[in-house]
Amino acid sequence: MANSKFEYVRNFEQPDSLMPNTWIVVRIDGRGFTNFYSRMCAKYEFEKPNDKRALDLMNAAAKAVVTDLPQIAISYGVSDEYSFVFHKTCNLFERRASKLVSTVVSTFTANYVYLWSTYFTDTPLSFPLPTFDGRAVCYPTVQNLRDYMSWRQADCHINNLYNTAFWKLIQLGGLDNKEAEKTLAGTLAADKNEILFSRFKINYNNEPEMFKKGSIIFRDYELVEPGSHNEAAAADALAEPAVQSKSQAEKDKKRRAKAKVVVEHLDIIRDEFWDKRPWILS
Ligand code: ATP
Ligand code: ATP
Ligand code: MG
Ligand code: MG
Ligand code: MG
Ligand code: MG
Ligand code: MG
Repeated sequence: MANSKFEYVRNFEQPDSLMPNTWIVVRIDGRGFTNFYSRMCAKYEFEKPNDKRALDLMNAAAKAVVTDLPQIAISYGVSDEYSFVFHKTCNLFERRASKLVSTVVSTFTANYVYLWSTYFTDTPLSFPLPTFDGRAVCYPTVQNLRDYMSWRQADCHINNLYNTAFWKLIQLGGLDNKEAEKTLAGTLAADKNEILFSRFKINYNNEPEMFKKGSIIFRDYELVEPGSHNEAAAADALAEPAVQSKSQAEKDKKRRAKAKVVVEHLDIIRDEFWDKRPWILS
């Protein structure tokens, strides 16, 4: 294209490439979903504190994002948020933050809106429409990344235990919001478990895994048994140089594209999940 006298405005664009060789986490979060859901609750009797349909829809939209972007190694969702982890070798959009975040947000939102009617069969979507914000953060080590994931899952656990106790006190205990809040003020996890059990015969452990642990999406290969031959191979893969050869990267890309994308509700704080699936962070 010919150079016009207007071309100079390109120089106003600021570079925003994220640090190389770091794990990029793009976290999206529903905008004003407290209001979005109370409106839906009032209108359509959403279940509190967890509407399963809303979580299934989040998972389906996130699964579409992971399927669409093979550079995503794993993702974790809870409530109205989802974290997508781009592999540290990812070079999509030259790692430009604005490009990565906006692509994830719009892919997610488009799928969320498109899939709405699949999960809310008798509740058509209406204005104001759901929208999401997004941000990107780089984590330089696997430990930092795992601590990030643990942080989100610990948050899920703390919030869900509180919310479950809070809503049971209201729904089954006949308390109002203020009384429920007061009952739970200053209680520890064990106290909340005890309140649920002694007052309502509810064993928190038997609550659905999706509510307690959130949702993990990743590409599923064969599980690795600790101490096996596969484990040694996986360790080798970990020792590979940070910059892969082109053909290896090409092969990986094909393998990833073919692998099944699954949604699970597992503990990602302990080592077991990662030990059994060394390919996720290799
Ligand atoms: P912001 O725009 O700042 O994110 P927000 O209202 O979305 O504001 P969050 O901190 O993201 O605030 O909280 C999410 C809200 O959505 C919480 O109130 C949570 O209870 C509600 N929510 C999320 N998922 C569900 C669900 N599956 N069922 C019922 N409520 C949900
Ligand atoms: P990228 O993902 O990098 O943006 P792209 O293929 O979208 O790749 P653009 O530079 O954004 O590349 O170019 C947009 C393309 O879409 C152009 O080829 C343009 O001709 C085409 N296009 C945009 N709007 C229309 C339209 N209304 N009708 C037909 N073609 C269109
Ligand atoms: Mg928020
Ligand atoms: Mg929100
Ligand atoms: Mg949120
Ligand atoms: Mg364009
Ligand atoms: Mg374009």
